[in-house]
Amino acid sequence: MKSIRKAFGGHEVLKGIDLEVKDGEFVIFVGPSGCGKSTLLRTIAGLEDATSGSVRIDGVEVGHVAPAKRGIAMVFQSYALYPHLTVKDNMGLGLKQAGAAKAEIDEKVAKAAGMLSLEPYLARRPAELSGGQRQRVAIGRAIVREPKLFLFDEPLSNLDAALRVNTRLEIARLHRSLKATMIYVTHDQVEAMTLADKIVVLNAGRIEQVGSPMELYNRPANLFVAGFIGSPQ
Ligand code: ADP
Ligand code: MG
Repeated sequence: MKSIRKAFGGHEVLKGIDLEVKDGEFVIFVGPSGCGKSTLLRTIAGLEDATSGSVRIDGVEVGHVAPAKRGIAMVFQSYALYPHLTVKDNMGLGLKQAGAAKAEIDEKVAKAAGMLSLEPYLARRPAELSGGQRQRVAIGRAIVREPKLFLFDEPLSNLDAALRVNTRLEIARLHRSLKATMIYVTHDQVEAMTLADKIVVLNAGRIEQVGSPMELYNRPANLFVAGFIGSPQ
């Protein structure tokens, strides 16, 4: 990301974001509500156009590349599943829309369902699942498209504490086995400290500090970062 700025009307929400995410890295954006985390993710995904600046993926400027063609899958806080479709069809829909053959869809959905322990639920509809199961379906739907980059926007914040831990461990496992790049938004410090290779602390549309969890914990650049990462000062 190079000098990304984004304004809504006269209100500038992103004030010049420069950031490099390496292949296979797990990067977490943290920061207070309203600081621009979702807007930055949506800009990477192509769901928002930056007012200025550019996003490059694998060296290619994607300003004019449609969201569906960016090799990205996004998982939201609200699962955004289709209520009338079964788990299996929800997970396979993206591939179907992309024109994949039924055999390929079945194979990829079965593989993702196996990774997420969703096999027993494939014939159910979202209303017949718990919140944690629904979020696993949403993650499964992202996996089947084999994206090179996953974007997660507070994926665990609708889950209760026990499910949050389980799903967090599952996401960590997926990162290890898929070796994909993941950018993940949270305001939960435990998630940030345990999942991230690199944490990006955002505040009011700017980056306060970028570093590994231990770097931020041991050497916060300022009181804001220290307060956010929770190191004793
Ligand atoms: P975060 O995800 O960090 O909580 P957001 O990126 O959702 O923050 O929002 C950052 C700011 O941008 C907020 O003040 C929000 O009200 C504003 N904003 C986000 N999306 C829009 C939009 N589509 N139109 C106008 N303002 C928006
Ligand atoms: Mg948000």
